[in-house]
Amino acid sequence: MNDRATMVPRPRLMDRYREWLPVTDATPRLSLGEGGTPLVRTERLGARYGLRNLHVKVEGMNPTGSFKDRGMVVAVAKAIEGGARSIICASTGNTSASAAAYGAAAGLEVVVLLPKGAIAAGKLLQALVAGARVVAVDGNFDAALSVVRALAERDDHPISLVNSVNPHRLAGQKTAAFEICDDLGRAPDILAIPVGNAGNISAYGAGFTDYAMAGIVERRPRMLGFQAAGAAPLVLGRPVDRPETIATAIRIGNPASWTLATAARDESGGRIEAVTDDEILAAYRDVASEEGIFCEPSSAASLAGVAKLARAGELDPDATIVAVLTGNGLKDPHTAEAAVGDRILEAASSVDGVRAALGW
Ligand SMILES: *Cc1c(COP(=O)(O)O)cnc(C)c1O
Repeated sequence: MNDRATMVPRPRLMDRYREWLPVTDATPRLSLGEGGTPLVRTERLGARYGLRNLHVKVEGMNPTGSFKDRGMVVAVAKAIEGGARSIICASTGNTSASAAAYGAAAGLEVVVLLPKGAIAAGKLLQALVAGARVVAVDGNFDAALSVVRALAERDDHPISLVNSVNPHRLAGQKTAAFEICDDLGRAPDILAIPVGNAGNISAYGAGFTDYAMAGIVERRPRMLGFQAAGAAPLVLGRPVDRPETIATAIRIGNPASWTLATAARDESGGRIEAVTDDEILAAYRDVASEEGIFCEPSSAASLAGVAKLARAGELDPDATIVAVLTGNGLKDPHTAEAAVGDRILEAASSVDGVRAALGW
């Protein structure tokens, strides 16, 4: 047998979890290889935070570099099944990168609305290179979302909305909770996750509930959601007019899945709390320097929250904790540059020159 014959392909997300998804025989078998991301048990980072069972779910390993692909593959497949030729979304960056990629693979017209000047460079380029029509609006994400919702309701230019208010997005995103349980052989005690528009925490909540109801896991984890302090409507209990944070993927003042997210929190005995930008950046550096995992700043909100609660003595050091790292650090080189400062040593290209630069 040659290599090709013995190669076992990764199962497609929509095939692997078909029974849990709105997939029918008429649903196109769209895939860019999403899902199946690593669950990494951290040794050094866990020790640093005083936690013996800290894991991270590395969602930056998805095809476009964020968890958004899990929901987008389902939303786009269902849009095609329903006869759509065009899709539209508002985005803080990753939804547009994902919509652009899956839309391109399916031959659809893709329109994305982005808050002008508030998108990480890599995400904007992903959408542009994939050929999406990008509209930078003079307003924040919340404003852009209300415009696309209104556009998708009009009949004069039929277009399918693929924001996380689309239930197929949340259905697809549940698969990350399934994978975590399948990998651990049980549900974690605690699931820590960044919260922006609040779709993902809702999807995880639904996924754990599905598995618990089916008897695949005994209990559901406590859900710990973390928002950036300058964009923490769920912590304050009211919308924030001008959300501000370096974590642009969670710079959202009025989350669309508000009710679902607070229900997921309350049903699990969990909490949604705020972390500052400094705490986010510290966790962002910690996970890269202790574990070699480069996530984007928004993703590090989950770890920042875990670190903070661990320091306050509010976490059992033996608890099985999974922190979701939602996106890939390569998307946002500018924040990385600012976070590390000027650390490059200069040297002549000789052994002595390099030894001198290193102080050897
Ligand atoms: C979209 C996104 C979030 C926030 O997810 P919500 O479902 O909007 O709460 C967090 N991190 C990254 C990297 C994202 O792309």
